[in-house]
Amino acid sequence: MGKPQKTSKSRTARQKRRMTIFVVGGVMSGVGKGVVTASIGTLLKECGINVTAMKIDPYINVDAGTMNPTEHGEVFVTKDGMETDQDIGNYERFLNQDIPRVNYMTTGTVYKSVIERERSLGYGGKTVEAVPHIPLEIISRIRAAQEASDADITMVEIGGTLGEYQNVLFLEAARMMKRDHPKDVLTVLVSYMPVPATLGEMKTKPTQYAIKLLNESGMFPDLIVARSTHAIDDVRKAKLSRNCGLNPEDVVAAPDVDSIYKVPTDYKKQKVAQNILNKLGLGVKCPAKSKWGEFAKKIDKDGKHVKIGVVGKYFSTGDFVLGDVYLCVLEALKHAAWDLGAKPELVWINSEELEKNPKNVNKFFKGIDGILIPGGFGNRGVEGKLLAVKYAREKKVPYLGLCYGMQMAAIEAARNVLGYKDASTTEISPDTKHPVIHLMNEQEEKMINTNYGGTMRLGDYPCVLKDGTLARKLYGNEIIVERHRHRYEFNPKYRKELEGAGLIASGASPNDKLVEIVEWKNHPFFIAAQFHPEFLSRPFKPHPLFVGFIKAALK
Ligand code: GLN
Repeated sequence: MGKPQKTSKSRTARQKRRMTIFVVGGVMSGVGKGVVTASIGTLLKECGINVTAMKIDPYINVDAGTMNPTEHGEVFVTKDGMETDQDIGNYERFLNQDIPRVNYMTTGTVYKSVIERERSLGYGGKTVEAVPHIPLEIISRIRAAQEASDADITMVEIGGTLGEYQNVLFLEAARMMKRDHPKDVLTVLVSYMPVPATLGEMKTKPTQYAIKLLNESGMFPDLIVARSTHAIDDVRKAKLSRNCGLNPEDVVAAPDVDSIYKVPTDYKKQKVAQNILNKLGLGVKCPAKSKWGEFAKKIDKDGKHVKIGVVGKYFSTGDFVLGDVYLCVLEALKHAAWDLGAKPELVWINSEELEKNPKNVNKFFKGIDGILIPGGFGNRGVEGKLLAVKYAREKKVPYLGLCYGMQMAAIEAARNVLGYKDASTTEISPDTKHPVIHLMNEQEEKMINTNYGGTMRLGDYPCVLKDGTLARKLYGNEIIVERHRHRYEFNPKYRKELEGAGLIASGASPNDKLVEIVEWKNHPFFIAAQFHPEFLSRPFKPHPLFVGFIKAALK
């Protein structure tokens, strides 16, 4: 985040109008603020506006990388290697653009930089206080992100819910920005409108309280997104808008939908982007149609069903969490299936259950067209995952392994094809005689010093694909760039032997030292990557590995 250089270009950049839309949540969490932020963003972009989106998370963790997946859901990795909240993934998918690390901050990040600056006398001996120094740091980070993306409009999603202690200083930052630039800052309140079963009618009172809380922070909503099971009706729209001095069209109906990709279409019908641009006085006219309308038709098409078994272990609070933990993987599978005109059916297979019932492997995979093993860490469920790989390899079921799923493929091959019964990863068996997967060199010192935060091999790295391989054919390119998040790697000591057995290293780092992707010869589709292709899949740009996988599964 270096200082802008004094060129004539940056001088005009500094004069450029930078507008900010804060998105805050009322009543309760989990109403999809991220999707609201991303949906408004994509519609603004369709009106020719340069948009970026940011997330501010209220927790003390400096990033999302050290959190347990069942705590936090999937960790999304940016191109430049930041471990963030999954909302950043939603922004990338909806905006169809990369979101850099400067677009993400937590309370921890903010405090850390303020304290570090204080320690280096950066405040010149002044008393450093929560207010104004924390909000000022937040504002300078928002400014930095706006400059980095050269954005006209920046969507800033404030994590947490109004009334919480945790996000007060973020709201204070928003208030300060609005005070200094009243014409350039808007606030969108995403609030929940319950429809209690006993009453059968939508209640607006909790939202009225949320508005009051927002007012207490010195802020007023410019737009209210009414999240509910149902679309808010005109009577209630009028009531709510009157309540806070808005026009009825400033209350947006946002009922539950069966796919998040239908949200932009709903907002388009209500002219949300046009309304916002008018409020900002931009004089821009939005196009009549949105590409998301056509996309919704693809989703609803009743094509051939394709059933994919996702073998994972993060089930502890039910199916809901699983969906959350493997969010990008599930999205990537859907993007590919829709692109091929198919209907994706995603089935969870619990690797721990599989491990306990090895004799029932066939039952677990009955009717499954393709097996996917996503990323993972640690011991739990590993034997189950290895059973799944063996099944896919032997029964010639299409297989896609991602990160841990690639490491499992290598271990399974070493055990059951090369006959090294104790082959493993040193992540779970440090003393194995056959460490087919081992700690990367650069990681050793970090582990000795328990330096875990943000120290994995993270973000974009290039990979060279070997001619004649399936991977090369699918990508149609020799050099690819993919995002990573791992500490362990394929041990090159076993490369030759495994290749001799038919497990080809179809791609490696440019110096050929790190194996990045493997595939089985003589198998209809068996590909396993050390990287995470799921981070690059987008609704309008499905990922070639996922498209290849679904195509094979459809056969
Ligand atoms: N646990 C493995 C590693 O650290 C795989 C990580 C992952 O699947 N993201 O290398």
